Amino acid sequence: MNNLLEGLNENQLKAVMTNDRPLRIIAGAGSGKTKVITTKIAYLINDLKIPSWKILAVTFTNKAAKEMKDRVQKILSNNEDRLFISTFHSFCTRVLREDFISANLEKNFLIIDTNDQQQIIKKIIKELNLNQDQDNRKLQRFIISRISYWKNHLISPQEARDEVFDPNERNAVKVYRVYQETLLTNNQVDFDDLQVKVYQMFNNNPEVLEKWRSRFEYVMVDEFQDTNELQFDLIKFLTKNKNNLTVVGDPDQTIYSWRGAQVNIILNFEKSYKNALTVVLDRNYRSTQQILDLANSFISHNKNREEKNIYTDNTNGEIVEVKEVATRYMEAKSVGAEIQELIKSKKYNYNDIFVLYRMNAWSQEFEKVFANLKIPFQLIGGIKFRERKVIKDAMAFLKVIAVKDNLSMERILHLTPKVGEVTIEKIISLANEHHLNILDLIINEDQSLINSITKNLDKLRTVLIEALKLYKLNSSLEELLKFVLVESGYENKVLLLDDDKDDIKNIYAFYDQLNKFDLDFNSETFGEENKLLAFLQEEALLSEEEDDLQPNKVTLLTIHAAKGLESKVVFIAGLNRDVFPSKLSMFTIAQLEEERRALYVALTRAKEKLYISYVKGEFSYISQGELGPSKFIGELNKNLYSLETNIFVHGDGVITSNKTIVSSRFENFNKNDSSKDYQKGDMVSHMIFGDGVVVKIVDQQLQIAFNNPKFGVMLIASSNPVLKK
Ligand code: ATP
Ligand code: MG
Repeated sequence: MNNLLEGLNENQLKAVMTNDRPLRIIAGAGSGKTKVITTKIAYLINDLKIPSWKILAVTFTNKAAKEMKDRVQKILSNNEDRLFISTFHSFCTRVLREDFISANLEKNFLIIDTNDQQQIIKKIIKELNLNQDQDNRKLQRFIISRISYWKNHLISPQEARDEVFDPNERNAVKVYRVYQETLLTNNQVDFDDLQVKVYQMFNNNPEVLEKWRSRFEYVMVDEFQDTNELQFDLIKFLTKNKNNLTVVGDPDQTIYSWRGAQVNIILNFEKSYKNALTVVLDRNYRSTQQILDLANSFISHNKNREEKNIYTDNTNGEIVEVKEVATRYMEAKSVGAEIQELIKSKKYNYNDIFVLYRMNAWSQEFEKVFANLKIPFQLIGGIKFRERKVIKDAMAFLKVIAVKDNLSMERILHLTPKVGEVTIEKIISLANEHHLNILDLIINEDQSLINSITKNLDKLRTVLIEALKLYKLNSSLEELLKFVLVESGYENKVLLLDDDKDDIKNIYAFYDQLNKFDLDFNSETFGEENKLLAFLQEEALLSEEEDDLQPNKVTLLTIHAAKGLESKVVFIAGLNRDVFPSKLSMFTIAQLEEERRALYVALTRAKEKLYISYVKGEFSYISQGELGPSKFIGELNKNLYSLETNIFVHGDGVITSNKTIVSSRFENFNKNDSSKDYQKGDMVSHMIFGDGVVVKIVDQQLQIAFNNPKFGVMLIASSNPVLKK
């Protein structure tokens, strides 16, 4: 047999060879659906001599598209650079680039991303004066989702206006109209427009449609269970009256319903394609028996599904490990320690390992801990911790205090209430004129200069002057930053605006990081007065390091981004109540079942080793209380995993299952330090953080447990003037 097809099972072979009628493959995870598509592409090119540019394959994420291309490239020995394997969005972009005139676009139209979109919407809300005492970000999000809904349902602003009555919806329509006008004037399109414009063009312009229809002799769609109506319409346009379509999918992996994915499209495929052939694949080639059994028994909790029988010959696997840990920090450390063991065993490389989580915010601890442990990693799809806006803001304050950094000072000015663009420009040129850096201009004793521009910097000035004093007094870094963020009003502003609590969680995580640095800081190597500089330097080096293009890295990504991918070792982190299933998804059975499918996707990414963890006992803003196990833990078949609790990772990386959980914060304590004026047990009062009690004394610093749980335990310099006995 042709060696390209060697090793395929009977049904896979049938699917590859069937090219004269529409074909649907419905099969479970890891059964070779993507393999069928990639082999088919290679077979069409190699054996049937179809030019590569006449084949279109679409999938869901960029990463999956890349994976598919790599697989085809591997099968075909010669380099095929004209393969058209892409996401729906990039396919549409290509069509619009070629036929922009028919789509009523100008040449070189610009595609805006979600960030740009938010900025534009924000501006329009302001212009239209719609945000009377409403939470701005909430309103923004609502409007963006409405606009996306209307676009995907091909409803114009005019049509939308005629069908909505609710006042909020009416506002959304107003924004929608101005938004579309703005995009048009600026020659811009958003992500939704890409698909909508192609649809409209195909619908209104038969010649253009015919051109594209005849261009593609074969069309294949992977992850078909997650297509929405509009995408299916595009597929229908391209394949109508042709027998050239192959779709593959797994209804148990539908995880994009919230974006309009319709599982009925794959289930009712035969209604649109009457002579379609359906092939079922029932052998899993990816995972061990142990992993597969756990995943299959878990997904059977969903009622609204068809039972599938899927088997594997790979029975030599190991039992799935479930771990309970005390804190998120411990979770990351235990995963880190496990990874180090795997690497030591020489059986695995870093790039054999995925860490998956339900929500982006869960990556924080892993980023920090992996950086500390020197475990190379890449983050897919999310924004790295130190690149998130609030962390950059906080860093700007630290950089101004440490080195009077001008760029950072500009950033802070932008955060300051009632200080606008024009004022900032003036401040900058004034500073230049007097050969001062901006900080020195602002805190200058002679206030007449700055007052000639604005009087709105008083609060900021006081905060900065006090912060510089604290800095000179060797305050702890955590204290310094908390002082600045609380006193400047920044933290409060974040608390008020941040309804999903993501930003504030990031700030707290940053405090934790500073606290850890304070504790670990060794004044003998750096010199005590340089603590902040040492921190900034370490940060700069870490971000530098991440940029190197080392291919051998652990991959951190959300479950949604992991669709279609596989990895020898998979860690699923944060299987916690209110986290997964997500707090927002517990209202209806349908939502809950979608979350279950998401966990099914996660479980089935693993080939050889699967670890699951959850945090128990730590306070978290996400759950507004103590974190605990997800209800999904209870739905995992107890005979199919091992459970380890009370896991503790020591400083040297040794893991023990200790019954008493020691908070990680106290790891590095050194008992024989003292400070003249304070004793353990002293009641103290801090100007900003309120009352507390001294629990330890380290060097010139006091470990204080504050009554306000928001501040928790913090290191404070004993010389700090704002602290009173
Ligand atoms: P998912 O639903 O997660 O997207 P899938 O059905 O697309 O999974 P694939 O990724 O195509 O599954 O295949 C899973 C793994 O099994 C891959 O590593 C693939 O190379 C391997 N595989 C598939 N079919 C065979 C086969 N006939 N012989 C050997 N390995 C196979
Ligand atoms: Mg696949």
